[in-house]
Amino acid sequence: MRLDKYLAETAQCTRSEAKTLLSRGRVTVNGAVCKKGDTQLREGDSVAVDGAPLAYQQFVYLMLNKPEGVVSASTDKRDTTVVDLIGDAYPRRELFPAGRLDKTSTGFVLLTDDGGFAHEILAPKRHVSKTYTVVIDTPLTEEMRRGFAEGVTLADGTALSPAEVEALTPDGLTVKVRLRQGVYHQIKRMFGVYGAGVNALHRDAIGGLALDPALAPGQWRELSAEEVTAIT
Ligand code: URA
Repeated sequence: MRLDKYLAETAQCTRSEAKTLLSRGRVTVNGAVCKKGDTQLREGDSVAVDGAPLAYQQFVYLMLNKPEGVVSASTDKRDTTVVDLIGDAYPRRELFPAGRLDKTSTGFVLLTDDGGFAHEILAPKRHVSKTYTVVIDTPLTEEMRRGFAEGVTLADGTALSPAEVEALTPDGLTVKVRLRQGVYHQIKRMFGVYGAGVNALHRDAIGGLALDPALAPGQWRELSAEEVTAIT
């Protein structure tokens, strides 16, 4: 790979910023200053900026705490998107949300530029679970719990796979739901079958990875390699 491309990808800068770093002699390859962007790097070459070694990352994985009112898309004409919230932190990356939350929902959205990984966690066959805290307007009943466990059939005839629901509060209005599918408005439609409305919906976890409680709504951070593995 060319040195300027590598710099742009690893130092998360634009090609022209990479050019400036190079022309100012701030970049070294294997300890020697290198000013030529078209230098071809070889396996094992060590690149540093201002003496700090860069680690090449093929893909980026971000955990975002989506606030209400933000849409799970890359671009939108009217609304702020989850990708807008990342700002220009990754100018060379084509980030997108791996799975959607409704505009009114909050919580864990995974953003990545790794299409293969996104496909893997969204494919129903992979059974990667998603866990939600949901506030409903009618107390949870045994009928709902059993119906979720057996697989709800939606009003349009869609037969869903089994899901889990349990009450988190004694009034039965705040519940935990675990799904292994991602049908449009799935939880709202599942409760709708029992005449219950959803007042709030928050995604707490994707697979084995919980949303970091240190992230306030709108905040995000990169995932470590271990955290990415924990998802699946
Ligand atoms: N189910 C819904 O109805 N909405 C979401 O945002 C996620 C799951």
